[in-house]
Amino acid sequence: MRRISVLGATGSIGQNTIDLISRAPQDWQVVALTGGRNVDRLAQDAINLRAEVAVIEDAAQYETLKEALSGTGIAAACGARAIVEAAERPADLIMSAIVGAAGLAPGWAAIAQGTTLALANKESLVTAGPILMEHCRKSGCTLLPVDSEHSGIFQALVGENIADVERVIVTASGGAFRDWPIEKLAEATLAQASSHPNWDMGQRITIDSASMFNKALELIETREFFDVSPDKIETIIHPESLIHAMVGFADGALMAHIGPPDMRHAIGYALHWPERTKLPVERLDLSRIASMTFRPPDPDRYPALALARRTMEERGLMGAVFNAAKERALDGFIAGEIGFMQMATVVERVMDKMSSGDGLQNATLTLDTVLETDQLARIRGTEIIAGMR
Ligand code: NAD
Ligand code: MG
Repeated sequence: MRRISVLGATGSIGQNTIDLISRAPQDWQVVALTGGRNVDRLAQDAINLRAEVAVIEDAAQYETLKEALSGTGIAAACGARAIVEAAERPADLIMSAIVGAAGLAPGWAAIAQGTTLALANKESLVTAGPILMEHCRKSGCTLLPVDSEHSGIFQALVGENIADVERVIVTASGGAFRDWPIEKLAEATLAQASSHPNWDMGQRITIDSASMFNKALELIETREFFDVSPDKIETIIHPESLIHAMVGFADGALMAHIGPPDMRHAIGYALHWPERTKLPVERLDLSRIASMTFRPPDPDRYPALALARRTMEERGLMGAVFNAAKERALDGFIAGEIGFMQMATVVERVMDKMSSGDGLQNATLTLDTVLETDQLARIRGTEIIAGMR
């Protein structure tokens, strides 16, 4: 039996993780489950999986959680600090599946245990990549990617030498608006941006897929996770979402990871690594699929990609600025404060503002400076959004 904790258990990745561990209850002892607001889901899963502790971020839901768990022997807690404490509980494997920069501190605490961290929370690598990887090396933590593209790259690299890698190709579906006339994008609504052509994911990452901010985060994630230089990282639109990533080697060979668009593939690989196990995912019938297509991304349609390139160039605290500005802009779009294409404008202006002022160049990268920069970039984002209205 392996001890497992799931941070962000009530979300899309968290629920897919729970689906897999529920199928083999004899293999898993559940330590902690954490959630943001969905207290009923959290309590039900904690009871079904006999977790040791359940933590809800939203303090207003604490009483409900306590009541639901009374008499079960499962401990209840609430708040951000309690989520970090849950991540500190000894476990063999911890799934980091909180969305956004809120996942950084709990993931950091999990890494400090020197255990295995399955990382879905790409934002922690975008905001703090260099120090997060260093933290892993120092604590002896094994970091496994859960993002499908990065799981694909990771699998293509098994037995290979990273020095022989010429290029890493991160594929992109192109999101909800890939075939829209570009001049219509400014009018895209929240409902339209919230539905993905191929993947069933949380709302925030689905909108980020439509704007390609998700791919932008993933390019930076690739840079930080695999330590490949940005000029070796490419992206291509592959509308069928069957090839998740490709790695090109010095001899010209391209190794592709192909699979159905089902996150249980990447989650299952991380849960069982270094072994493989049977997974309840669709087996592809290539004769029915018949063809796979590719096209280059149009930079005017997807300004997020150039902003990611700039972030990789400037590095340091710019990753925290980029991510926080993106999160603030996304909040603005969801709240109806700004239009779909204005998200990139907000991010660019926050980056401009903070790279010329705000003392970013001289600050060293630490967990504290990352979190401070995150807060400041959100304030700058709010100011810029206010100025646009
Ligand atoms: P989601 O919105 O469905 O779930 C997020 C989880 O985090 C929920 O449990 C939510 O309650 C919790 N949460 C939100 N805000 C929180 C806060 N401030 N403090 C504590 N908990 C909080 O998101 P998701 O789609 O499951 O994505 C999770 C992470 O995995 C993201 O970083 C995302 O980029 C990454 N990811 C997701 C997918 C996917 O298919 N959904 C694929 C690849 C990577
Ligand atoms: Mg992905």
